Amino acid sequence: RDYINSGVPKETDMILSTCSTIRLKVPEGSRGVVLKNLYLSCDPYMRGRMRSPHSFTSRHVPSFTPASQPIVGYGVAKVLDSGNPNFKVGDYVWGLTEWADYALIHEPNSLFKIKYTDVPLSYYAGVLGMPGITAYVGFNELCSPKAGERVFVSAASGAVGQLVGQFAKLMSCYVVGTAGSNQKVDLLKNKFGYDEAFNYKEEHDLDAALKRYFPQGIDIYFENVGGKMLDAVLPNMRMNGRISACGMISQYNLEKPEGVHNLMEIIIKRIHIFGFVVSDHYHLYPKFLELTKQYIKEGKITYVEDVAQGLESAPAALVGLFSGRNIGKQVVVVAHE
Ligand code: NDP
Repeated sequence: RDYINSGVPKETDMILSTCSTIRLKVPEGSRGVVLKNLYLSCDPYMRGRMRSPHSFTSRHVPSFTPASQPIVGYGVAKVLDSGNPNFKVGDYVWGLTEWADYALIHEPNSLFKIKYTDVPLSYYAGVLGMPGITAYVGFNELCSPKAGERVFVSAASGAVGQLVGQFAKLMSCYVVGTAGSNQKVDLLKNKFGYDEAFNYKEEHDLDAALKRYFPQGIDIYFENVGGKMLDAVLPNMRMNGRISACGMISQYNLEKPEGVHNLMEIIIKRIHIFGFVVSDHYHLYPKFLELTKQYIKEGKITYVEDVAQGLESAPAALVGLFSGRNIGKQVVVVAHE
């Protein structure tokens, strides 16, 4: 409806509307594609796009155009018509689409053709899509993990975190995750193979909790939440530790980001912090896909999705990310082919 610079977004900040006409053909001479959307991906970065173009986040992701255009986000779709040599009618794709039943994408530069259809197509909104390659790049490529290293993951049961934990176990690391409910803690330990897990909402002293699980310190921290958690982690890092600065969801609803107090630890411990935006690393997608597809086939990686039914459920599903309502990757089913 309008820009929201602070506060938790609400369902009513979004409008569901019906069009009188639907375009199912690309215009003459266009290199675009018409998509039938199947799954939409709810992603925390979309909160930044709800801010005004003057907000600090707009340097990173452009603001949505309020009240006139559909929300743009990741999704999985079928090509209904194409003027583009890279896509043909009937192809399945994942990438940036519009939150609508159908979408005309004029410049399909942010669409990937789906190579394997012997897995659930919704996986391309999660484990085999943007969140999956985020986990892979942020952990495997940037942090160069070694067997036996001690790894800590925040928002550990979510779309990205559940995979980081599993990639870390596949590298023979010791892995601890934190999440915001006991149900999620149970998933971390009993589904995703985390060695230990704790509910950060039940810990009044995060430093003490980290010392309990990492008496010798943390080698790699996969950062998804920022704020107080980052402040507690920094003094618990080991010498030459690495931090994958993936996201800071605890900051996304604040007018301005909070201060972090323990920054001196970065110098003292020679900590390397790798800030990254996954789209800069999409050239690694084929490598990531082959590796992860094989892990799924061999049963070495599992993936939990939280599936909302129908386009009308998308606003609630999106805002639910900010209260931790989602258990696993939040997707919305728009259509079954
Ligand atoms: P999730 O599926 O993990 O959903 C978000 C989760 O964040 C919630 O379920 C909740 O889990 C937790 N959360 C919400 N509010 C807070 C808060 N105030 N403090 C602590 N935790 C909170 O999301 P994703 O896996 O998709 O994304 C994880 C992070 O990765 C996000 O920060 C996102 O922006 C970032 N990201 C970055 C990318 C990049 O290119 N750098 C690409 C993709 C994602 P809980 O119940 O455990 O609190």
